[in-house]
Amino acid sequence: MKYNVIERGDDISKELTERFKALAAAHGVIQDEQSPDIVLSIGGDGTMLQAFHQYASQLDHIAFVGIHTGHLGFFADWKPAELDHLASLMFSVTTPEDLPIVQYPVVEIEITTETGVETHLALNEFTLRGIEVSLVAQLHINDELFEMFRGDGICISSPAGSTAYNKSLGGAMVHPSLEAIQIAEIASINNRVFRTLGSPMILPKHHHCDIYPKAHQNMLLSLDHKYMQRSDVVSIRCRVAGNVKVKFARFRPFPFWLRVREAFVGQASQ
Ligand code: NAP
Ligand code: MN
Repeated sequence: MKYNVIERGDDISKELTERFKALAAAHGVIQDEQSPDIVLSIGGDGTMLQAFHQYASQLDHIAFVGIHTGHLGFFADWKPAELDHLASLMFSVTTPEDLPIVQYPVVEIEITTETGVETHLALNEFTLRGIEVSLVAQLHINDELFEMFRGDGICISSPAGSTAYNKSLGGAMVHPSLEAIQIAEIASINNRVFRTLGSPMILPKHHHCDIYPKAHQNMLLSLDHKYMQRSDVVSIRCRVAGNVKVKFARFRPFPFWLRVREAFVGQASQ
């Protein structure tokens, strides 16, 4: 088993990283930045997003696990005080095939420009937004025109990302065992002239949504924490990634609904 650590850069995360590396060395476990079997993220959910994008081309053979050095994270569910315990569980696994894992679907985005097609993955979500003026875009579902969107933007999230930006947009929490994407509107304009559905939609695997922005429109695209400004987009196809999922090492169960409760509801009073 080869590992790598991606950390947030604050003092606590750095110190935990050093301790983990010392434990690994003592157990003869090798660090491999190029092609690890397991990636430990130490920081917040944002740190896990960074780790995911760094290894997005190797998702087929890498498992991720996270320690949170801030508040409880959705992707980082081990506490700093549990570092030794986590390390011993990890080092007791000798071959990557023996890692206990759960797999979550991710969002696949295919951006078509006048010069070609590029494919990206998002762990949480993909968003597109207008810059200076409202976003104007046709939304097609399974090759049929669905609506003409006008407003701030559109957010396409994975089930794991349903608790992130999507939640602020009034989207539903989706269990990550469901292979689906959710389309949520960001401040759509609705009046007698412009009309959109106004509710979040959940598409199953094998369905797709195509977004055709008005030609040469200046837009801000985001893939998780990464942003890019573009004006060369002809269309964007969004769907559940067909051939790849993200793997998380699950050394102990922590059910999704418990995570949701702890993050957003707190302990219910009797
Ligand atoms: P950030 O500004 O630190 O992220 C915003 C918050 O979202 C942080 O508290 C972050 O946790 C949390 N978060 C990230 N992924 C989550 C998930 N799957 N479930 C629940 N909470 C989650 O920026 P960042 O850390 O680079 O994260 C980028 C993400 O921020 C984007 O993917 C997007 O989902 C989210 N975001 C949300 C809004 C909004 O709600 N209005 C706006 C922009 C972006 P940590 O503090 O542990 O990192
Ligand atoms: Mn963050």
